Amino acid sequence: MKINENYLNLKDGYLFATVAKKTKEYKEAHPEKDVIRLSIGDVTLPLVPAVIQAMHKAVDDMSKAETFKGYGPDFGYSFLVDAIINSYAKKGVSLSFHEVFVSDGAKSDCGNILDIFGGDNTVLVPDPVYPVYVDTNVMDGRKIIYANANAENGFLPMPDESVHADVIYLCSPNNPTGAAYSKEQLKVWIDYAIKHDAVILYDAAYEFFVTDETLARSIYQIEGAERCAIELCSLSKTAGFTGIRCGYTIVPDALTKNGVSLNKLWARRQSTKFNGVSYVTQMGAAAVFTDEGEAQIRESLAYYQENAKIIADCLDELGIWYTGGKNSPYIWLKCPNGMSSWEFFDYLLENANVVGTPGSGFGNNGEGFFRLTAFGSTQSTKEACNRIRNLLK
Ligand code: PLP
Repeated sequence: MKINENYLNLKDGYLFATVAKKTKEYKEAHPEKDVIRLSIGDVTLPLVPAVIQAMHKAVDDMSKAETFKGYGPDFGYSFLVDAIINSYAKKGVSLSFHEVFVSDGAKSDCGNILDIFGGDNTVLVPDPVYPVYVDTNVMDGRKIIYANANAENGFLPMPDESVHADVIYLCSPNNPTGAAYSKEQLKVWIDYAIKHDAVILYDAAYEFFVTDETLARSIYQIEGAERCAIELCSLSKTAGFTGIRCGYTIVPDALTKNGVSLNKLWARRQSTKFNGVSYVTQMGAAAVFTDEGEAQIRESLAYYQENAKIIADCLDELGIWYTGGKNSPYIWLKCPNGMSSWEFFDYLLENANVVGTPGSGFGNNGEGFFRLTAFGSTQSTKEACNRIRNLLK
């Protein structure tokens, strides 16, 4: 018996564990202090009423033999798939029913999608990055190369024509940097992918935060994407589904490699290894796409956007360089006075009692940067910013 030795090459997931440990230690040593966490990557507002009502109804359906549901369709109930197709149509993107795959979230799909790619592909990942892209490829033993994101390119790296990649990860708006690609920039990536016969895995988990019309809400809004891109989407941040779990992945028909349809491979993978998302969850998810549900989730979005603006305004006032905060719940700032990410973490915790996330935990290029999030309460965000202002002005 042999284990998958690739797992031994994984780096310890120490980032959030260390943030939690240091915060706990500080609180224990200073129980009188009110520590504010602007490090939260999870949503904090509850599910909206339209979702709750739909889920209550779904539970009632499960209580009667006539409406009870057992195993559902592998790729999602038609009422949800149709709602997703309709939401894409509003963005000017036309999808066929079988191009949509409902799942239990973008994280699982990010990892699972690798099942349909050979192990000897070269994978291009931006640095800094959402760690799941790196770790899932390390588990499979794939070669990973990095695209440098830094202050010079606004944390939006563009393709290097002299470098070849087979699988490319793009996340826009980005976690952790909050930076978002323009449609023109995405077109350059699409052209590169087509030229290199590569596949783009486009993580659109934060697309709902995009308000600027020059930015894409789906990569399929850009010509050619259907021939080279798979889009991974999630209701986690859009509608507070982090605990409920629902997402969807789009694999277009036009995406083929050596005459093989990637849509067919993914359908085969999913129908073999996945038994669908619960009926109750999908009923709640479908409610997100109704007029009522959308109006309600827009209110939650506005709440987080207001928090992001409070943080961004504070940094503007202090003259601190940052990305994000406008089309994203994340604000990625340059640590003041040349501090390293962890130095700034300690400085902020000890002197302002505010917790953020050190950028170095997301990759080498994150050193010297720091992530704050808009997922807290407005009251605590304002208080944290007052403290940061007093400390750094
Ligand atoms: N993709 C990115 C970039 C994320 O930041 C996250 C969650 O934080 C996910 C995917 C995971 O989404 P889900 O909750 O749908 O698994």
